[in-house]
Amino acid sequence: MKQSKLSVLLNKNVKLVLDGAMATELQSRGHSLDTKLWSFPMVHDHPNSVRDVHMDYMNVGSDIITACTYQSDLKPEDKQTEQMMFDAMKIIHLAKQQYCTNQSNGREVLIAASMSSFGANMDGAQEYDGRYVDEVDDETISSFHGRKIRYLLEKCGDYAPDILLFETIPSLKEAQIIQDVLSKLDLINKTKQPDVLISFSCKEEQGIVTTCYGDKIEECIAFANASQIVQGVGVNCSTPDHTLQALRIARPLTTKLLVSYPNNGDVYDGINKTWSHQNSVMSFGDVASSLFDAGADIVGGCCRTCPNDINQIYNTRNRFLNEKP
Ligand SMILES: [Zn+2]
Repeated sequence: MKQSKLSVLLNKNVKLVLDGAMATELQSRGHSLDTKLWSFPMVHDHPNSVRDVHMDYMNVGSDIITACTYQSDLKPEDKQTEQMMFDAMKIIHLAKQQYCTNQSNGREVLIAASMSSFGANMDGAQEYDGRYVDEVDDETISSFHGRKIRYLLEKCGDYAPDILLFETIPSLKEAQIIQDVLSKLDLINKTKQPDVLISFSCKEEQGIVTTCYGDKIEECIAFANASQIVQGVGVNCSTPDHTLQALRIARPLTTKLLVSYPNNGDVYDGINKTWSHQNSVMSFGDVASSLFDAGADIVGGCCRTCPNDINQIYNTRNRFLNEKP
């Protein structure tokens, strides 16, 4: 069994900085992402823009950068999507190579593949709901994840990811399906074993934070604790407040890595595909400070965050380590 690349990097840095939103950055550079596949087609249409966003996130201090693969839905014999997934992984690896050769000053960077929930490819942003797990059969969800995982690990060669980052997963049931798919691949005994992180989308009702489907945070942590495959568990694309609440519940219950990358607090309308801005949001430096204090091992940003937010997280991480040796 090989040593986890995440553990090696964490031993050096103690806390890690994950990157921020890809789509938000592409939009702020003037690209329209008004397609069903969101930012994913950009790897074909505007590869240099995708590369530039990766470069920016490395330049502001990201230890982990995430490939532009979120909205990929790899159907059987779907050569076009295969090629786009390959392109996304190639772009991010070449960006890392360029950064490490010219700019990194010896800083190491890991590459994650963004792995959405099944619901992210359904109409109406169902990764923030999750009830589809009661309507879609397990085999369909399992096949969706299986095809993507196998393609990334078996067909991308040197461009394979260091980390499989399952993100915005709305239900414990889908996390269990993903874990079953990974178990069948027998990753533990493979030398090219990636690190696996599973991050849930969460909501709050009457003061209680659950996954968007309604699972208790405690149950998600028990699931991760029992897994031989999952190295880390966490929350993303939820508000900074909900993410922090979930993390405070989770930290005493697990020694697994805790990952947290909230959105900037703006609220998404999945039907109209629009965001409404919330003025009450703290700076990302303050958000990161609270999350590191609460025991997060990896902190980054999800939707509506930008390189400046990630730079604030990076500076907070460095201050945190200097103050708490
Ligand atoms: Zn998000």
